[in-house]
Amino acid sequence: MIPMVDLKAQYADLRPEIDQALAEVLDSAQFILGPNVKAFEQEAARYLGVDHAVACASGTDALHLALAATGIGPGDEVITTPFTFIATAEAICYVGATPVFVDIDPRSFNLDLERVAAAITERTRAVMPVHLFGQAVDMPALRKLADNHGLLLIEDCAQSWGATRDGGQTGSFGAAGCYSFFPSKNLGCYGDGGLVATGSPTIAEELKVLRNHGSRERYHHHVIGYNSRLDEMQAVILRAKLRRIDRYNDGRRRAARAYNDALKDVPGITTPWEDPAGQHVYHQYTLLSDCRDAIVKALQAEQIGCAVYYPIPLHQQEVFRKRHGHLSLPVTEDVSRRCLSLPMFPELGDDQIARIVEVIRKAAE
Ligand SMILES: *Cc1c(COP(=O)(O)O)cnc(C)c1O
Repeated sequence: MIPMVDLKAQYADLRPEIDQALAEVLDSAQFILGPNVKAFEQEAARYLGVDHAVACASGTDALHLALAATGIGPGDEVITTPFTFIATAEAICYVGATPVFVDIDPRSFNLDLERVAAAITERTRAVMPVHLFGQAVDMPALRKLADNHGLLLIEDCAQSWGATRDGGQTGSFGAAGCYSFFPSKNLGCYGDGGLVATGSPTIAEELKVLRNHGSRERYHHHVIGYNSRLDEMQAVILRAKLRRIDRYNDGRRRAARAYNDALKDVPGITTPWEDPAGQHVYHQYTLLSDCRDAIVKALQAEQIGCAVYYPIPLHQQEVFRKRHGHLSLPVTEDVSRRCLSLPMFPELGDDQIARIVEVIRKAAE
């Protein structure tokens, strides 16, 4: 059996450090927004090269709070990708704004910037790019476009901790960069967690108020806020993993190179495109194949994990079909029929990769 992600292998390695830190949290009896959350926020900001990082309860909340903190709301349009997890568009709906879906680039699977430009109207307030599968969007180009039209950039970095573009970290280009620490993300905790990175002290302050019931001072509430905080147990886990994240991402990149090598002479497989201007961190290793469904069956029969991210683009989801179902986004629709993500985690071994590729080779023949 080869799983999609192997969190057990990672925990085995971290166990002494994490168990000790968790015991200290339990002894301290300080569980919410304590010293470890504060330290993690500082360490995260330093890593990302931003002035402020505000932790919250999930990646979905990070997106929601970032939109709320930047004042996006009813009547506003936010341009985003239909080829992502539903949370990207949900957050836009939470603040009463309208998601506008545009087609993706067939190589990177990220937003097609020409389509973004064509979709701008007088109601557009923001663009929400997703650095899908751990590969950064061309942020300098998107930023130029956004600046020319006075638009905010709210980055969905849920899959891209450590990914860079022209040397800059994802999440450091826009008004806000939103991270998820869901356990299977490349930087993940052991529950739910999230974080917003921002260069703006005003946005950071607003985020801190919003995540804690709209209060700056205890029991004084000047806006309607939320309960969206990171807890100390998740913070100590994240601090331990943040110290190792570059090693983890290097392990993913090594595994991706091994897949590329092993798959290069398998007919009918398009291996992931890697943009030379950035550093891909392979949150997922996602290939394209016309016989995707046969490969899925073959892998399942051998108890090898695999997954289709994402089988139904957002404009075709039941919840959005009424409003967006008329859209034709051919690249997204084609990619969603042919994409397949293979097991990916830093500890994935060359022998495991060889086995996976053997099964794919037979199924693809
Ligand atoms: C996981 C994910 C989210 C949501 O993060 P949660 O922490 O699960 O709320 C948002 N966007 C993308 C692209 C994701 O992959």
